[in-house]
Amino acid sequence: MKLDYWRYDLRLKHTFTISRSSRDVVPVVLLKFEKDGIIAYGEASPNARYNETPDSVEHFFKRIDVEELSDPFKLEHINEYLDSLSPHDASAKAAIDIAMHDWIGKRLGVPLYKFFGGEKRKAPLSTFTIGIDTPEGIVEKVKEAANYPVLKIKVGLPNDEDIINAVRSVTDKPLRVDANEGWKSKEEALDRINWLATRNVEFIEQPMPAAQIDDTRWLRERIRMPIIADEALASHDISTLSTAYDGINIKLQKNGGLLKSRKIVYAARAHGMKIMLGCMIESSVGISAAAHLSPLVDWNDLDGNVLISNDPFKGALNEDGKIILNDEPGLGVIQAH
Ligand code: MG
Repeated sequence: MKLDYWRYDLRLKHTFTISRSSRDVVPVVLLKFEKDGIIAYGEASPNARYNETPDSVEHFFKRIDVEELSDPFKLEHINEYLDSLSPHDASAKAAIDIAMHDWIGKRLGVPLYKFFGGEKRKAPLSTFTIGIDTPEGIVEKVKEAANYPVLKIKVGLPNDEDIINAVRSVTDKPLRVDANEGWKSKEEALDRINWLATRNVEFIEQPMPAAQIDDTRWLRERIRMPIIADEALASHDISTLSTAYDGINIKLQKNGGLLKSRKIVYAARAHGMKIMLGCMIESSVGISAAAHLSPLVDWNDLDGNVLISNDPFKGALNEDGKIILNDEPGLGVIQAH
């Protein structure tokens, strides 16, 4: 039994800007688990929003007693063991959990979407994300995304209206808007959303900081547009979120992997909430893991591997927004280089 991991810099095709950061390169930590001749892969895409770095991921991996992973079928035990090491480190935990799932699928000879009881054809179309840019840059990016039927637009800086107007100058396709906690007061959020409502926007993601749940509840009582929790899903439970939000954005890297994300899917359904499946900037390892879960959700936002130019793996594809899962066992990923 062997656990190896290595850093890899994912290069973005375009500088990617959201309300709190701007990046050209995203360092991830890829992971390989080997047991009984089966090689399984995982990936951590650490996120500064949750105090994670490649160093913190490697530090977490170093603390793992590999013997605790000796039976990958014991997913509950393994997840409890990982949680006993630290209350944080969701992306590092996700990497291990994803590798355990890949191993199980390969051992059983089934693709993970089947293991989860899903059907490939039920995977919703994925949005393509347009990061924050100048109006000219936005127009260029929207034109490049011409084949994608639904766009996700990042806002949350003072140029929101310029961005949406630039998008609308070239397309009338449906938009989903993500403020990444960028609007700091409920009055500002209300103004912005009332304006967005006149621009064919389907829903708004994380309009205000995760901690401002009372303000989000106030906001929800005054608008018709659904509000989706993203950053807030890392710090509040589903029953609390259901009082302020209409849906949630699950990400394997934020929520600690496939087992935990599946539990969140069922909890959210029990509270009548809508579910989006999102991602960080990730290679095809992390994106394929999410793609296998995607037949169980309402909306997909799985474009993390489409935004990079040096994907070290090949797996589930996103062709013009259509998620294409293969029928290889486990994640169905192979190392490309
Ligand atoms: Mg988001």
